[in-house]
Amino acid sequence: MTVMPRPSILSVEPYVGGESKIPGVNRIVKLSSNEGAFGPPPGAIEAIRAMATEAHRYPDGNGTALRAAIGARFGLDPARIVVGNGSDELLALLILAYGGEGTELVMSAHGFMMYDITGRWAGCRIIKVPEKNLTTDVDGMLAAVGPRTRLMFLANPNNPTGSILPQSEVERLRAGLPDEVLLVLDSAYAEYVTQPGYDAGAKLVDASGTMVNGRAIGTTVMTRTFSKIFGMGGMRLGWCYAPASVIDVLGRVRGPFNVNAAAMAAGIAALAEKGWIEKSVAHNTEWRATMRDALTAAGIKVWPSEGNFLLADFGTPAKAKAADDALKMRGLIVRAMGGYGLASCLRITIGTTEECTMVIEALTAFMHG
Ligand code: PMP
Repeated sequence: MTVMPRPSILSVEPYVGGESKIPGVNRIVKLSSNEGAFGPPPGAIEAIRAMATEAHRYPDGNGTALRAAIGARFGLDPARIVVGNGSDELLALLILAYGGEGTELVMSAHGFMMYDITGRWAGCRIIKVPEKNLTTDVDGMLAAVGPRTRLMFLANPNNPTGSILPQSEVERLRAGLPDEVLLVLDSAYAEYVTQPGYDAGAKLVDASGTMVNGRAIGTTVMTRTFSKIFGMGGMRLGWCYAPASVIDVLGRVRGPFNVNAAAMAAGIAALAEKGWIEKSVAHNTEWRATMRDALTAAGIKVWPSEGNFLLADFGTPAKAKAADDALKMRGLIVRAMGGYGLASCLRITIGTTEECTMVIEALTAFMHG
């Protein structure tokens, strides 16, 4: 007899991260994980170095200084913020706390993969709702809710599609959900959004429990990350903003020192870096449009994106594979989308000016070749 995990664990395929090497190619440009184009802010690099001499000390288990800095930067109450080892950890803790065996988790068909992976290991039944034009279908999401539904996830903007729901649709979604369904608004790409009227989630978090038209608005949580706009994916730092009841629950389930000291120091320094978000957003907005136009002109279908990446559709899986190979020959690593059920697509992160130019040149040559 061998020891066996719970059966749902074996339904999960191990997560395979993006490749970072190509045999025979020296210079690699990695555009496969939606990492910030500029790397970490200089102040964050300094802060990480400075923390080295304190590495024997446990970090502040409450993340007090970091939560205060996040609260000040985004105009939120630090008491309603919890920090995590990447937002992935917070998503997992929410699933463990509110989901599990006998419950259902609802997400869109091409929603972020970790909801599915973590939900399954927690034992939830995962309900995937078809999108309309690769955009979350609010009516479909509401129709999928049953008596066992406890969690609904919406990445807004969504990875890997890049699609976004307007605020009115997000509000309609929350209003149509029963109270016992926790809505998690995953706003990992919030800073990159240029659509007017966008709210990353704080409005609905604040509305949780308030009465509208004689009905209480249900509970919403917003998750955010330092992995994208702040270029700190390697530090594993995320946070969430939630009503007091959820903060209480997360306080019970998280590890005592779930965020390391270097990550916290880097986060505080990144938030203090003047003009960082503005500079990164300006670059992303410019190159997202430039790359979209250039790839479209080359004959590739590019899905509208509000994130720091583009989903490029080559029409067939074979053509996408050939395009991927052509990019690899030039050292460009992007994300093949077969694992997401979008095998005719490649997801391409908006990198530096030079990196974007390389992608445009490579794919234009490929399409004309
Ligand atoms: N949510 C979405 C939608 C993402 O794309 C990602 C990163 N791929 C995450 C969450 C996880 O980010 P983190 O690095 O903070 O764990």
